[in-house]
Amino acid sequence: MGKLSKIEKKRDREKPGIVFGNQWDYAPAPEATDFFKLNKRYELFIGGKWQKPRSKSYFATISPSTEAVLAEVAEADDNDVDAAVLAARHAYDRYWSRLAPSDRSKYLFRIARALQEKARLFAVVESLDGGKPIKESRDVDVPLAIAHFFYHAGWADKLELAFHGRSVRSLGVAAQIIPWNFPLLMAAWKIAPALACGNTVVLKPAETTPLTALLLAELIEECDLPPGVVNIVTGAGKTGAALVNHPDVNKVAFTGSTDVGKRIARAVAGTGKRLTLELGGKAANIVFADAPLDQAIEGIIGGIFFNQGHVCCAGSRLLVEESIANVLMRKLRDRMATLRVGDPLDKNTDVGAINSQMQLDKIRELVAAGEKEGAERFSVSCQLPKKGFWFPPTVFTNVSLSSRIAREEIFGPVLSTLTFRTPDEAIEKANNTAYGLSAGVWTDKGSKIFHMAGKLKAGVVWANTYNKFDPTSPFGGYKESGFGREGGRQGLSAYVEVV
Ligand code: NAP
Ligand code: MG
Repeated sequence: MGKLSKIEKKRDREKPGIVFGNQWDYAPAPEATDFFKLNKRYELFIGGKWQKPRSKSYFATISPSTEAVLAEVAEADDNDVDAAVLAARHAYDRYWSRLAPSDRSKYLFRIARALQEKARLFAVVESLDGGKPIKESRDVDVPLAIAHFFYHAGWADKLELAFHGRSVRSLGVAAQIIPWNFPLLMAAWKIAPALACGNTVVLKPAETTPLTALLLAELIEECDLPPGVVNIVTGAGKTGAALVNHPDVNKVAFTGSTDVGKRIARAVAGTGKRLTLELGGKAANIVFADAPLDQAIEGIIGGIFFNQGHVCCAGSRLLVEESIANVLMRKLRDRMATLRVGDPLDKNTDVGAINSQMQLDKIRELVAAGEKEGAERFSVSCQLPKKGFWFPPTVFTNVSLSSRIAREEIFGPVLSTLTFRTPDEAIEKANNTAYGLSAGVWTDKGSKIFHMAGKLKAGVVWANTYNKFDPTSPFGGYKESGFGREGGRQGLSAYVEVV
C-alpha cells in the first residue's frame, strides 16, 4: 500500500513522464430521447395553472453539450412573482395549513411514487438541460430526489417526535431559490420539507436549468395537489430578487453562490423573514500515508471530476501527506487519463459538459491565474467536442495556500493539490478557507478519523468515501458556506416554529 507496483516502477524507468490511459475504446451507448417530447414553450406554474408571464417575455434554455435550444421558458417579473406569492398565501390559508398532517403525507408519497415512475424521463432531461452525465442524473440526482420526498412524507404526521414532544407551527409561504448544479435534487430538498411541515412554496429554478423543475410542476399537477401549494416561477437573478423581497413571504431558502447569499442576507435583515443559506465551498480531501490509496483515488476522482466539479461540496483541494505525494499523483494522473469526457447522454461518460459559457469562462480565468501564480498544471489530453462547453479534467501541483486556485471556488473539473506532514498541519490547511461545507479524510485509522472530524470546520466530513448523501443526514455549512441544515431531523426546523 502506498507504493508503486513493480509494473508501475518499470514503466516509470522506461517511459518517465508518460501517462497511461485511454486504453479502452467504448462503443457509444447513448440513452434514448425518443420516448418523450418537450414543450416548445413553458409558462409559469402559478395557482395550479400554467399562466403566460405578465412580463410577456421568454428566454431559451439550451443544452450545454450541443448549444441546441431545448425550449422557451417564461421570464417572471415582479407582477408574476406577486401573483405566485398571492397564490401560495391563498393555498396556505385555505387548504394546506388546515389539512390533516397525514393527508400532507399522502400527497408527498404520491409525488415520490410518481417521480419514481418517471425517473428515466427526469434523468434524461436533467442531463440534456444541465450537461451532467446520465450516470450521475440516473444514479444519483433522481433517486436522491425521490428519497427526499419519501423521507419527508414520513415526517409530515410525526413532527412532534422530531422536536421532543413539543408542538410546531408552520411558517407560511416559503420563497425558494436554487442553482443549476442539481436542479431536480435541489427542488426536492426545498419543496419536500416545506410541504411536510405545512408550508406552501414559490420556487425559482436557475435560468440555465429550469426544465426538470417545470416537469416536476407537471407531475405535481398530475398528483392533484391543491392549487397554489407549489408554484414555480422561472427567470434570472431579477426574478429571484423579486421573490426574496416580496413582503408576504415568511421564509427564504436559498442555495447558490456566497455573493448572492450575502446580498439576500442583507435584503432579508430586519424583515422578520426566516432565512437559510446553502452557499459555496472549497472542500479539502485529506489523504494520509496509511490510506487505502486506490480507494482514495476513486474518492478523489468522484469528488471533483464526476459532474464536472459542479458540486458545492466537491473535493476541490487535495491535501496529501508528503511521503506519498509522488505515488498518489502518479496514480491520480493515470486514473484521470481514463476518464471519458463527452456526450452527457452516453452511459459511458464520466465527465459531461460545463453548464454554461459563463461558467466555462470563469473556469478558464481561474486556471490561467493558477498557471500565472506558478502552479504546475496537468490536463488530460482528450478530444473535446467542437460544439458546446467543455473543460478537460485538470490537476494542479505546487499550489501555494495563498493562490487563487487554492482559495476561490472554481466550480469546474479542476483540482488543486497541497501537501502536509502532520495531522495538525492538515487541519490547519484544511480550515484555512473562508468556506466550511465539507471535507474528506482517508486513513486506515479510526481514531485519526474521529480526531480529524472533530477539528475540521466543515458541515460534513466523509471518511474513506466522498460525496455520499442521504435524506436522513443533515447537510449545510460553516462560515461563508452558509447557515441552516437541509435533510434529516435538523432540516425540518428551518420550516417550523417550535411552540
Ligand atoms: P448563483 O448565481 O448564486 O444563483 C443561484 C440562484 O440564485 C439562481 O437561481 C439565480 O438565478 C438566483 N439569483 C441570482 N441573483 C440573485 C439575486 N440577486 N437574488 C435572488 N436570487 C438570485 O449561484 P450559481 O452560480 O447558480 O450556483 C453555483 C453556486 O451554488 C456555487 O457557489 C455552489 O457552491 C453553490 N451551491 C451550494 C450548495 C449547497 O448546498 N451549499 C448546493 C449547490 C450549489 P439565475 O441562475 O437565473 O441567475
Ligand atoms: Mg440549459
